[in-house]
Amino acid sequence: MNNFDYARATDVADAVRRIAADKGARFVAGGTNLIDLMKEGVARPSRLIDITHLPLDRVEETADGGLRIGALVRNSDLAWHPQIAARYPLLASAILAGASAQLRNMATTGGNLLQRTRCFYFYDTTTPCNKREPGSGCSAVGGVNRMHAILGASEHCIAVHPSDMCVALAALEARVLATGPDGGRSIPFAEFHRLPGDRAEIDTNLRADEIITAVELPAQGFAANYSYLKIRDRLSYAFALVAVAAALETEDGTVKEARLALGGVAHKPWRDRDAEAQLSGAPATRASFARAADVLLRAARGFGHSDFKIELARRAIVRALTQAAAGTPQSQADKRIR
Ligand SMILES: Cc1cc2nc3c(=O)[nH]c(=O)nc-3n(C[C@H](O)[C@H](O)[C@H](O)COP(=O)(O)OP(=O)(O)OC[C@H]3O[C@@H](n4cnc5c(N)ncnc54)[C@H](O)[C@@H]3O)c2cc1C
Ligand code: SF4
Repeated sequence: MNNFDYARATDVADAVRRIAADKGARFVAGGTNLIDLMKEGVARPSRLIDITHLPLDRVEETADGGLRIGALVRNSDLAWHPQIAARYPLLASAILAGASAQLRNMATTGGNLLQRTRCFYFYDTTTPCNKREPGSGCSAVGGVNRMHAILGASEHCIAVHPSDMCVALAALEARVLATGPDGGRSIPFAEFHRLPGDRAEIDTNLRADEIITAVELPAQGFAANYSYLKIRDRLSYAFALVAVAAALETEDGTVKEARLALGGVAHKPWRDRDAEAQLSGAPATRASFARAADVLLRAARGFGHSDFKIELARRAIVRALTQAAAGTPQSQADKRIR
């Protein structure tokens, strides 16, 4: 039995005050990840600060033509929001490819960013895991690592970030708004999550005393040519082996601008600007897409069971870009099933 206190934050300043006052405290939003971790004994917060009553549940226009998504907007509400569905269908597709309808009804935008890895050793408290217990070792290196990283890993941790939504947010160049004791700041999405290095226990660059208040999308939504392709063991309710968020601006069969981000392959959503640059100005053909895949995967490395993911990622990138260029996003089918 793990005892913990419970408190309800009254506003953002109160939430920050409470989290800063207690190192063992954690925010709880939808609870779909944190409560599981507590039940498994992986997380043992001394206090839960309930933030679900804060006024952070709106989607609003920004001055520069983009959208601001409150940290407490539920994943379902976001995916089905008319502005998101019309202007950022890549994001809607990615959200709808994740979890189940019931989970999406509970899960929040902020919580989705901070959900922890699905590495089975992380959840199994009888095994060494640097992320759960720093310095104890990594059971996945040399263990069962079929779901693990092929890019950006370290000897200390080869886990992947499990979110689908974050892969689309990386491709769309979102920003994360956070507030702490010293005020607010805006973090580029590419700098929000981090690679494991020798500190596997730290997933992001958010400070322990900060709260996420919103995620901002720029005006450009790539609504005409996009695809979110998620390859997984089951057709639904499974985490990605490899996921690809592809978005293109094309003119007369030539790529003017490309965005490419991968999920299920690294400790963070993996966006590669060199691969995007390779595509810029190239004909929108499978040959160009294959070259971009080669660039993106140039440093890929499997750890035994995960070797197959390199070729899988290569093929998924080509397919996603092909679907995006054709204006036929595969995940449209998901949208019919609410
Ligand atoms: C069976 C199952 C299958 C799933 N499948 C998928 C999938 O296929 N794809 C996918 O992307 N996801 C999947 N998920 C994960 C799900 O999307 C996440 O659990 C969910 O998004 C977390 O959001 P939450 O609001 O419930 O977070 P919580 O569990 O409430 O919180 C998660 C973490 O975020 C912190 N936190 C929450 N809000 C804030 C904030 N505003 N500021 C600072 N810290 C905050 C909490 O302290 C906690 O550490 C699955 C989950 C389950 C249980
Ligand atoms: S891959 Fe990371 S999360 Fe998994 S056992 Fe190793 S250190 Fe732990």
